[in-house]
Amino acid sequence: MKLTKLRELGNGRAKGMLPVSGGEGLPVWSLRGRQDGPTLVLTAGVHGCEYVGILTLRRLFDSLETASLRGRVLLLPLVNGEGFFPGSKQMVPSDGKNLNRVFPPPPDGTRAERIAQAVVEQVYPQADFLLDLHGGDVNEAMTPLVFFPATAPEAAADQARSAAKHLEVDYRIPSTAQNGLYSYAAQTGIPALLMEVGGMGLWLREQVELELRSLQSLMGFLDMGPQAVENLAQKEARRMCYAEASGRGLWLPRVVPGQRVYTGEVLGTVEDLDGQELETIRAQWDGIVLYHTLSLGVSGGDMLVTYGQF
Ligand SMILES: [Zn+2]
Repeated sequence: MKLTKLRELGNGRAKGMLPVSGGEGLPVWSLRGRQDGPTLVLTAGVHGCEYVGILTLRRLFDSLETASLRGRVLLLPLVNGEGFFPGSKQMVPSDGKNLNRVFPPPPDGTRAERIAQAVVEQVYPQADFLLDLHGGDVNEAMTPLVFFPATAPEAAADQARSAAKHLEVDYRIPSTAQNGLYSYAAQTGIPALLMEVGGMGLWLREQVELELRSLQSLMGFLDMGPQAVENLAQKEARRMCYAEASGRGLWLPRVVPGQRVYTGEVLGTVEDLDGQELETIRAQWDGIVLYHTLSLGVSGGDMLVTYGQF
């Protein structure tokens, strides 16, 4: 497919390829409503094995009626195709970089940085709101949640937080990250969120449905469609613990995502190959487990288990 400038994508439903300097382009789909309104940017597949968002964007593109849409939805359904097709978790294979850690990118850097550059230069300027779809990767078990930017300019942070309440996920997490696709967008003043649905290399029909309903509700919140539904069951984390391995070993979790845990409870252990215990991870306070790694082998600095207090 030939490369396209976003402004060349026509009315109604249109598909194109955004140019990325020095390499393959990025698929971009556009749904333009008959009435004016904001532009919502939806991205998926930044991590190549987080599947639910990729399928949700395909469903949304095929099913959304542009006749009743106010504004425009720009979809980037597969930002890291180079990682997706060979099943490479979290990285862009040709440079080994995590695309969600290279924002803001240097000009004309490695492949991951050039993809980021295309997003910053061509997509950010169009966005009135941005939602990046992730999930637990093949090696993560996770309960659905949304991260909102806690350190972005106030207007963007406030709108993102209000919008998050309209997604069908039960946990809302303030994030101080600044170097990812959505978190850097938020630093530049674009209200932006990161939603996590799925994990363990799965893409279940009900996860896609949940995400689709969430997107429709978000469009309602942005006055682009009719279906804003505030999720009254959603809770915001008051504090978070991201427990990491202090060295190499075998990780044996003792909890599951969504499980309530109590101060002092063992969340998992790290052992050596002979079964000698190296490290015991205990809850520092009462909370709810949000995700943990399924990798048996872990190295120093790897995320083991994350829980929050709500
Ligand atoms: Zn991800």
